[in-house]
Amino acid sequence: MAKSKRRKKIVIDFDGTIADDVFPDVGNPQEGVVEALNTLKEAGFEIIIHSCRTGSYFKDALDEDQFERIEDFMNYYNMPFDRIWVPDKPIASAYIDDKAIRYRNNWKDIAGKLVEQL
Ligand SMILES: [Mg+2]
Repeated sequence: MAKSKRRKKIVIDFDGTIADDVFPDVGNPQEGVVEALNTLKEAGFEIIIHSCRTGSYFKDALDEDQFERIEDFMNYYNMPFDRIWVPDKPIASAYIDDKAIRYRNNWKDIAGKLVEQL
């Protein structure tokens, strides 16, 4: 099967993945993230940031505009990105998240690990 000619999208979490997780503050960049994002950008990936910060849950709970905080952070550290995703979950080739668990028909393992670890 031929590879899709569509531009591949990578959806990346913010806190704990791009930046150190010191929520509601914004941490420092994670080690290697600037280089990794540049590599992905140069390879032609569309980089989308998806964070709970911009969701409706925190809309009234946090003083500052969280969209702008992420945008300012990314620009300050010269990290390439195409957009900060605010609406529903975007379709992507991959999602990168510090809290992700890969699902492969393994609900029993996932539930067991979560109960054990959290
Ligand atoms: Mg996170």
